[in-house]
Amino acid sequence: MEPAVVVAAATAGVAALAGGVGWWVDAAPAAGPLPAPTGLRAAARRLAGQLELVFAKPAAGDAVWAELEDALVGADVGVKTATALLDAVRARVGRGADAPAIRAALRAEIVRLLTAPPAASPHAKPWVVLVTGVNGVGKTTTIGKLAARHAAAGRRVLLVAGDTFRAAAGDQLGVWAERTGAQIVRHAADAQPSAVVFDGVKAALARGVDVVLIDTAGRLHTRTPLMEELRKVRRVIAREIPDAPHDVLLVLDATTGQNAVSQARTFTEAVDVTGVIVTKLDGTARGGVLLAVRHELGLPIRDVGVGEGVSDLRPFDAEEFASALFDAGNS
Ligand code: GDP
Repeated sequence: MEPAVVVAAATAGVAALAGGVGWWVDAAPAAGPLPAPTGLRAAARRLAGQLELVFAKPAAGDAVWAELEDALVGADVGVKTATALLDAVRARVGRGADAPAIRAALRAEIVRLLTAPPAASPHAKPWVVLVTGVNGVGKTTTIGKLAARHAAAGRRVLLVAGDTFRAAAGDQLGVWAERTGAQIVRHAADAQPSAVVFDGVKAALARGVDVVLIDTAGRLHTRTPLMEELRKVRRVIAREIPDAPHDVLLVLDATTGQNAVSQARTFTEAVDVTGVIVTKLDGTARGGVLLAVRHELGLPIRDVGVGEGVSDLRPFDAEEFASALFDAGNS
């Protein structure tokens, strides 16, 4: 498909959107109106408990601030983010404020920090999503969950097995394709990732699919060649579809704590990451890394992975997270 046709499709999309209908208009997320994810509550529990302990004490001047900082840092918020948060809280209520006032202000600051504009729904066809992250963070699983979500919204999905370095990655993606009814483009292991991606994008255009989810290799993020490869993949996509990839998602594993923040920094230097998905929040009590990623990199947290199942990907909601931290009985 020529770029002009893509533009035409996008323009038609805007027109239909204005009318309130269109193939890309999101239905409710696949997980639907489920209760707040238990994974998120579990991830917030440790910090919630620590905060409760601090606020339960009679006001004790400067000690409160030091204890709050310890609680935040202990939950993987990181020193930088903890300091910035508490500075903002002090600016709101003053150093001598009582515990309820500090608590309310901290809650408000956390919501403010984590709130980001909602992710754009697909408004080009095909809507191309590049998924990055180091090995083992849950990239392939997340692609499977995203495929299921798009399929549930009535979109035709094509998966591209761009991680040719890890032999099992293509097979694993094949299983997700079967489970979700998505199409898949893959080459033999050790093929050039950019060649697979080229074929994937061509196939997406030829077959008229709605969404393309591209898996990428994630071996050792500190090695320059991987980052070069990612840039190359990006160029190959843009050559076929000038405004693509429309979304570049970075998958981070919450259980790696502050290491997730340094991974995020490396990836954002290589590709323009548009959003973050934090996985395995069900497997850690240190959900504070969400705050660090948002503060230190300014990236929106799009979704959180709260389990290995197909519906265990939840749109991230700042208010829900704050509620898990602060509202009695919810943590
Ligand atoms: P990749 O190497 O980044 O593609 O990672 P995989 O998708 O292969 O996932 C690595 C492991 O993490 C697998 O065992 C997944 O089932 C598991 N996993 C992925 N996401 C989650 C999650 O949100 N919660 C939990 N508990 N496990 C997850």
